[in-house]
Amino acid sequence: MVSTIELSKRQDRILEIVKENGPITGEHIAEKLNLTRATLRPDLAILTMAGYLDARPRVGYFYTGKTGTQLLAESMKKLTVKDFQSIPVVVNENVSVYDAIVTIFLEDVGTVFVTDDKHHLAGVLSRKDLLRASLGKQELSTLPVNIIMTRMPNITMCEKDDLLIDVAKKLIDTQIDAVPVVKKTDSGYEVIGRLTKTNITKAFVALAEQEG
Ligand code: ADP
Repeated sequence: MVSTIELSKRQDRILEIVKENGPITGEHIAEKLNLTRATLRPDLAILTMAGYLDARPRVGYFYTGKTGTQLLAESMKKLTVKDFQSIPVVVNENVSVYDAIVTIFLEDVGTVFVTDDKHHLAGVLSRKDLLRASLGKQELSTLPVNIIMTRMPNITMCEKDDLLIDVAKKLIDTQIDAVPVVKKTDSGYEVIGRLTKTNITKAFVALAEQEG
């Protein structure tokens, strides 16, 4: 994966040489540094992998002109939902609000997805949806969640191959905490995962911590 990395003194020197002389072969870079081609190989591999240099067979190395920030943005735009999604917590639409509240405590989640008897996505329940229902005079153990949930087709969702950055934008635009990761079938949407603000925070940290 492309990333911004801390460059060594020698790698900085190589960048300078390629900037001034590119396209230049590994052999010629090595000569200018009084090193062997073999010694240089790992540095060239790192610089190419990180996106600072481009290599063309029989021509040599080019400077891509990309800054660390550009390279970081490129790596962010490569992250996909499937690498960061969590296991979804799902309840049937006929379970009671009381049971849904118990579920969010037991499963330690903030959002529960609701499915119909065919196991297709029917709605979403957030913490505040459940709190709101609890403020009413209804009997929570007999009130089914399908009365209070946000329902289809007004559900924001994503698919496993979607870009994380696009889901992050959806969360911001719609001011929600989580989306179901779904798989479209002929008869409806199957819930296969959950993508939350926490998953995106973890992706942010993973990106910062990866080196090389
Ligand atoms: P909370 O309500 O606990 O602050 P959210 O901000 O996620 O949590 O939810 C706000 C409202 O949006 C709730 O009414 C909830 O049902 C709804 N909601 C949550 N997630 C989704 C989603 N993926 N698609 C559509 N509506 C959602």
